[in-house]
Amino acid sequence: MNRVYNFSAGPAVLPEEVLKEAAGDMLDYKGSGMSVMEMSHRSQVFQDIIDEAEADFRELLSVPDNYKVLFLQGGASQQFAAVPMNLMKNKVADYIITGNWAKKAYEEAVKYGDAKPVASSADDNFSYIPDCSDLPIRENADYVYICENNTIYGTKFHTLPDTKGKNLVSDVSSCFMSEPVDVSKYAVLYGGVQKNIGPAGLVISVIRDDLITEDVLPGTPTMLSWKTQADKGSLYNTPNCWAIYVCGLVFKWLKKNGGLEAARERNEKKAALLYDFLDNNSLFKGTVRRADRSLMNVPFITGDKELDVEFVKEAAANGLVNLKGHRSVGGMRASIYNAMPYEGVEKLVGFMKKFAVEH
Ligand SMILES: *Cc1c(COP(=O)(O)O)cnc(C)c1O
Repeated sequence: MNRVYNFSAGPAVLPEEVLKEAAGDMLDYKGSGMSVMEMSHRSQVFQDIIDEAEADFRELLSVPDNYKVLFLQGGASQQFAAVPMNLMKNKVADYIITGNWAKKAYEEAVKYGDAKPVASSADDNFSYIPDCSDLPIRENADYVYICENNTIYGTKFHTLPDTKGKNLVSDVSSCFMSEPVDVSKYAVLYGGVQKNIGPAGLVISVIRDDLITEDVLPGTPTMLSWKTQADKGSLYNTPNCWAIYVCGLVFKWLKKNGGLEAARERNEKKAALLYDFLDNNSLFKGTVRRADRSLMNVPFITGDKELDVEFVKEAAANGLVNLKGHRSVGGMRASIYNAMPYEGVEKLVGFMKKFAVEH
């Protein structure tokens, strides 16, 4: 076996302990004589798995009782449509455009109503978070939408926008459970789990319960109505049983390691190591305004495209893989999610130092 340090933006690294546990359960989950992938989603064994996953998720994030937690399919991208379908009572929504994912969500919402960008950082290739302290939020806006951590550009909202009392909807895919959050500040938060929590194919949506109603846009598919899913405890149809199970294991791992406060400390320590190096060396530099830097996705460049390619290649040969940046930023990107150990970032920085001396 030859495990690498995997800096992929998603699907991404999972805790080794969790992978081993899943492997151990593979042929016989807790005496059921079968794997979680083979069992009925209507069985008591699976009901216990999803119930426990939800309970641990609620505990970790301190989810208030008046919020529902839904385990859904279709990825974060499916929620781009589900959000307007379930929330656009006035057919008016204000979007803050901080990158590709926010833009895609906005473009989806345009299909259903009057969605409008009220702020954007497109003017500087999304390298910063715009000032959102006094936005022209419309009086009749059904919600204000953000992508809280911008996976591609490496920016993060460290302060939530002033929505002027309107419901805040946030895509937290790439910062989900990386630190504690005050759920009560959101109307809806949701994320694909394949960035920071589990295997691909599952999105977890946390929705204030007064927003879960039958009053959805005409033509909303049954499956995309949050009410359908909430009424059936995320088991209206066959859910992604495997991903829910693995997420459950990850929640136990997070709890065992001190919960989200401790996760934040570990993530801050890892990010500081990498950012300090970026700020103090002559070859590599970060591409994001300091105040808006993400703890999870760290894009950087050398300024020389050929050297960037060489770096990515040599890093991979040294067991540091998936460091190529997204094409819209270029250069490199290190995603250092919860499951990336400190040693992985240490090894990366060590390799960068060596590379800088040699080039
Ligand atoms: C990856 C990502 C998505 C898309 O997720 P899918 O599950 O592939 O639909 C959406 N938003 C953010 C912030 C992402 O990082």
